[in-house]
Amino acid sequence: MTYLDHNATTPVRPEVVDAMLPWLREGYGNPSSVYALGQRARAAVEKAREQVACLIGASDPSEIVFTSCGSESDVLAISGGAWQVHDESKGRRRKVVTSRIEHDAVRLLGSQLRRRGFEVAEAGCGRDGVVRGSELAALVDDQVAVVSLMHANNETGVLQPVVEAVAAARAHGALVHTDAVQSLGKVAFDVKALDVDLLAISGHKINAPKGVGALFVRRGVRLSPLVTGHQEKNRRGGTENVALIVGLGLACEFAGREISQAPAHALALRKRLEAGVLQIPGARLNGHPESRLPNTAHFSFEGLDGRHLVVALDLEGICVSSGPACSSGASTPSHVLTAMEVPAPLATGSIRVSVGWGSADDDVDRFLEVLPKAVARLRAVAAPA
Ligand code: PLP
Repeated sequence: MTYLDHNATTPVRPEVVDAMLPWLREGYGNPSSVYALGQRARAAVEKAREQVACLIGASDPSEIVFTSCGSESDVLAISGGAWQVHDESKGRRRKVVTSRIEHDAVRLLGSQLRRRGFEVAEAGCGRDGVVRGSELAALVDDQVAVVSLMHANNETGVLQPVVEAVAAARAHGALVHTDAVQSLGKVAFDVKALDVDLLAISGHKINAPKGVGALFVRRGVRLSPLVTGHQEKNRRGGTENVALIVGLGLACEFAGREISQAPAHALALRKRLEAGVLQIPGARLNGHPESRLPNTAHFSFEGLDGRHLVVALDLEGICVSSGPACSSGASTPSHVLTAMEVPAPLATGSIRVSVGWGSADDDVDRFLEVLPKAVARLRAVAAPA
């Protein structure tokens, strides 16, 4: 199989599976229990907290809150932050500023916040998929509770002007969050340098299992919890999922060890892949040509449907996607491509290709061998007789 859909999810590293298994078998203690079985589980959770903190450059492991996924981390940051700030400001701050190209975890939260009386304002992006920083900054005022801008877009891989979001939020005393689910492990970053208050990550995008994530919460930042309880210093109730947390911690340690080489390796593969794909007549690359995650390429092909191309490639054992994995069955063009003003026929005829851990030259060769024939076949079928 040729797996080129690492932005959808990633294979779990064998070492991560091995590290998790003892916590599903003999190490089943509750980390809140005082006896040794529980305290061993507590120590494993705290080691993982250090591993996550180390990868993202947090000042202290206590700034890491474990969650069930990247989506929960986003919602805890934005809703939890907005409610807390709203209450502390006695209702004066009741606005959230974000962008039109956020992942659905953030985008769909907007309508929920609006129903609860918040104003939600979204900045647009240019044709290159970069959110207009000045437009976002103009939306921020003293009524804003939270500013949230993704670090890199999941569909196009385009890197976003988080620096400008931070400056606007700081100028008006708002909290600032970034969704770094796609960028973790793909580009080096540091929460101190980014200067964000909140940052979301997810295990299954960095070769840990699905169902575990984390939120960086800068020391001193208070959130209204979504799940009440005493765990995670009252910020996220629920008995900790020790095995998954151990998996996330180890995956972060691996990502940290490899961050000096992984981006260059991914970029070399992507560049070769792009050069090959762009030789196909009527093929184009979507998104900023340079300011992008090194592993992600998003293409449109005139005269075909991206979903049909995904199926044709699947029949040849190649996995890519035609939009975000969570909505790739949808027939309407993605909100990201719409915001980028990609014409509807080109948006419909698009696929995302993303390399990652384990990807090699052979994968690119196989993709480039199969793709032109699949595109030609689909165009022949689609063309009127
Ligand atoms: N944010 C971004 C940018 C994503 O790409 C994803 C998943 O695709 C998420 C959030 C949600 O992460 P999870 O699947 O862990 O809920």
